[in-house]
Amino acid sequence: MKYQVFAAFACLASAVFAGAPLDIIPAPQEVKIVPGECRLKGKPVLERVAAIPPEGYELSITPKGVTIRSSDAAGEFYARTTLAQIERVDRRTREKIYPCVEIKDAPKFKWRGVLVDTARHFLGKTAILRIIDEISWYKFNVLQIHFTDNDAWTLEIPEYPALAGQGVTRGRTGFVYGGKIQPLYYSAEDIKEIVDYAAARNVKIVPEIELPGHFGAALRAYPAMGCRCRGGGGVLCIGNAEAVRFAEKVLDRVCEMFPSDVIHFGGDECTRDFWKKCPVCKAHIKREGLKGVEELQPWFTRHIVEYLAKKGRRAIGWDEIFIASKDRRAGGDSFNSFLPKTTMGMCWRMHGAGARAANRGYEIVRCPTDFCYFDYRQGLADDPFNYLGKTVVTLEKAYSLDVLEGVESAARANVAGGQCCNWGEFTLGLVDLEWKLWPRALATAEALWTYPEKRDFAEFSARAAVHRRRLVGRHVNCAPLE
Ligand SMILES: [Zn+2]
Repeated sequence: MKYQVFAAFACLASAVFAGAPLDIIPAPQEVKIVPGECRLKGKPVLERVAAIPPEGYELSITPKGVTIRSSDAAGEFYARTTLAQIERVDRRTREKIYPCVEIKDAPKFKWRGVLVDTARHFLGKTAILRIIDEISWYKFNVLQIHFTDNDAWTLEIPEYPALAGQGVTRGRTGFVYGGKIQPLYYSAEDIKEIVDYAAARNVKIVPEIELPGHFGAALRAYPAMGCRCRGGGGVLCIGNAEAVRFAEKVLDRVCEMFPSDVIHFGGDECTRDFWKKCPVCKAHIKREGLKGVEELQPWFTRHIVEYLAKKGRRAIGWDEIFIASKDRRAGGDSFNSFLPKTTMGMCWRMHGAGARAANRGYEIVRCPTDFCYFDYRQGLADDPFNYLGKTVVTLEKAYSLDVLEGVESAARANVAGGQCCNWGEFTLGLVDLEWKLWPRALATAEALWTYPEKRDFAEFSARAAVHRRRLVGRHVNCAPLE
């Protein structure tokens, strides 16, 4: 129905319609429509053209057939994704019906991510595979999995068997199956399946292991890795060489399991209170010639960044890693001068250290809470689910994400892209995760793919309504648009 309306419009309109919607999300960079429709059997012709940018493609649909040109497999995959979004099948003749178009397309940003949190409420392997499917329909290319936190450790590490399933998720220790409690974590086999499934859909799995804070679940299993002071808390004892070695061995396994060139080591919301009191940490500060406890996390961050670099991986951490002052939230905080330039930052605060890091030459990924945190309310008239706090991130707000905000024009190439984050404290499983993710992730997908000058929220909303219907038709629990 929608296509017929479009075809009639296309015949009336000029033959060239740059940035035309065509119900494609994210909107392609260049669309040229020829009036009429193409009825086709047979497979697309594939051509590799080196001049086409990474992940980009050219899609030509004429009455003679479909041609896909790209320089890489990702571009070909995205051309097929676009094709699937505009395809209609004649049930009688089995012919595929398309509008006649020429599309030239490539993403504006190379990091187009989604984060899920399996440490607050566990998501089974099947749910992860499902989310990979869904985000790949909209050309996201990163799925970051937050495997560990104070609540649980959900990744199997053979050297430390007590970690897996430790303290699993908000009061539950596993689910009962066949009379036995099954711990909730991913085995190396599960991870292989997830990584391969994602790679076939041009999605990179970026694992996140929280260090040195948000470390409570690990310390329940191995208390000796925490500070030797009263109320050892949820932080790694950086002064203890054995504890640092523990972190390294975990990262060794993570690098074996995940081919990702980038490994996330957390770095956020880490209190210094335990380090201040810990005799081991105090001795370490003296031994290393550090100015004080405020230089302990920067020292550890650099150690981890260099350790991962020796293994051929880049480290990424939350934006606190760039801050070295006592008051992490103060505007005038000092910059962490310990960090090698290869370090990547993931910036959850629009006005935090992120933009400054980009201006200083560090590569960053942006996920500002007010635009990208989908565990915040979505402003729906009727919503049965629980959310974190009172902040509202509407579809329109999510769509207005500008990951270049506050970054000097000379430093814009340092912005790799952005990410929407779905923290799990109030998200119990796939049903409410999908509800909170969609349709807002449609907005993030377009904000990271399509040039800002081609973005128009009213026009996007009409396409989002079409896609909401399709998502529900595919049994995805997509929320209404308002
Ligand atoms: Zn300590």
